[in-house]
Amino acid sequence: MEIIIGKNAGFCYGVQRAVNKALEEVKKNKTYCLGEMVHNQNVIDKLENLGICFIKTIEESKGNTIIRAHGEPKSVYKKAKEMGINLIDLTCPSVLKIQNLADEYSKKGYFIIIVGKANHPEVIGIKSRAGSDYSIIENKTEISELLNIINNKKKVLLISQTTHSSKKFDEIAQELKNNINSDVKLEIKKTICPSTEIRQKETEEIAKKVDLMIIIGDKRSSNTNKLYDIACNFCNNVLFVSNETEINLDKFNGIKSVGIMAGASTPKEDIFKIKDLLLNNNY
Ligand code: SF4
Repeated sequence: MEIIIGKNAGFCYGVQRAVNKALEEVKKNKTYCLGEMVHNQNVIDKLENLGICFIKTIEESKGNTIIRAHGEPKSVYKKAKEMGINLIDLTCPSVLKIQNLADEYSKKGYFIIIVGKANHPEVIGIKSRAGSDYSIIENKTEISELLNIINNKKKVLLISQTTHSSKKFDEIAQELKNNINSDVKLEIKKTICPSTEIRQKETEEIAKKVDLMIIIGDKRSSNTNKLYDIACNFCNNVLFVSNETEINLDKFNGIKSVGIMAGASTPKEDIFKIKDLLLNNNY
């Protein structure tokens, strides 16, 4: 059986950077991490075993505290300062760029449309920099409800959560261009992380040519769910597993080619464990 593993499968550079730095810090000092470092329970359990203490609110911190790659709202920085907490800010540079855009354009008086999931930590961090004049949407169908508001504005900025679907963002941008009044200044910044786009494209390419596709990642991971949706569009046989224990080998009977992709929050070792499982069972 041929096994094709995506070159871009697994930890993105922002998550890898945060995990590496967290491992360095915990060796030196007691270290807290605000929120889950990644949406992946296996990784969280491992970090916890090494001594990182995960907390839900900054108020629970008693010392050095990691801000994870998704970033945090402005209120967290303010509270940490008041409490005298040392923050180890590992917000991904790509997320930081969007936070800065939201900050800059809200100060310039723009209405900001954020494309993404309203309850995602990254979006919560971005909206905290967007002032009070913003809206969060996921699909182009939501543009029609927004037109009444934005056609009364002078300037509108469209930005995106880093891990949103590139295709959906393009559809939203096009819908806006088609319907916004010509006297409203529209700025579009496609802030989807390049690593997300590349991973989505690679998932499509592999899914088109294999009999069965495996997507590895935590079911709560937004970017992994998108990879699953993309794979399902191009392959009739897609498994979504969080690790090798969820692989049912019966599904591989008669399968000649398998593609493997993994989300940005999946460690490489989870990918190799699944590859080894298939190889060790003579698939
Ligand atoms: S997906 Fe992109 S933006 Fe998000 S943490 Fe990874 S590298 Fe950074």
